[in-house]
Amino acid sequence: MSWFLRGVRRGVRTEKEPENNATWPSQLEVKGEFSGCPTRAIREGKWEPGKCVFCRRCEPNLVPTGNTVQPEVKTTNSLFRKSLHVFPVDVGSCGGCNVELKLLFSPQYDATRFGIFLVNTPRHADALLLMGVMVEGMEGPLREALDAMPEPKVVVLIGACAASGGVLGRPPEVNAHVVVPGCPPTPASIIQALRRLKGDV
Ligand code: SF4
Ligand code: SF4
Repeated sequence: MSWFLRGVRRGVRTEKEPENNATWPSQLEVKGEFSGCPTRAIREGKWEPGKCVFCRRCEPNLVPTGNTVQPEVKTTNSLFRKSLHVFPVDVGSCGGCNVELKLLFSPQYDATRFGIFLVNTPRHADALLLMGVMVEGMEGPLREALDAMPEPKVVVLIGACAASGGVLGRPPEVNAHVVVPGCPPTPASIIQALRRLKGDV
């Protein structure tokens, strides 16, 4: 049965509000010394979520608390309150962040109910969603996409690779307004970050 007919027969069914749903990736609590972190997410006894790839090598020195990792949202713009149009750019990801991002627009998460819409060109975009580590061949397309966006525009970094370079790479050199930690972040945590950017929550 198609999604359309299923929806008509059963009514609209989506996940609960992201705040009730986003349980992973979890914040980690430092319980003891650990020096083998592949991304140097632990420094001087402090844990940095934007650098963590949640490999769990550090257990039991660092343990999950069960509290969701919170996105860093540096700005809120009421112009986006009714609609936020997003354009994704993959500058060198493993594909994991892309899969989670795609789920935002599935019937289950349905980000459009929050006024978040996917667009096919940066010319129509309010927010650039960046994933992956910076590879040489993508530097030009990234600049072109940023230049093509109308003002006001925001940049959202999705995942540890874009936020900090992950295990092997380097992050894109951009002025980021939102950072969503995780490897990959859950669809619910991405929605939560975008809703905070819109000023919804
Ligand atoms: S989970 Fe992995 S990346 Fe994160 S702090 Fe622990 S060792 Fe480092
Ligand atoms: S953050 Fe993790 S899931 Fe996302 S692109 Fe990097 S390695 Fe892949």
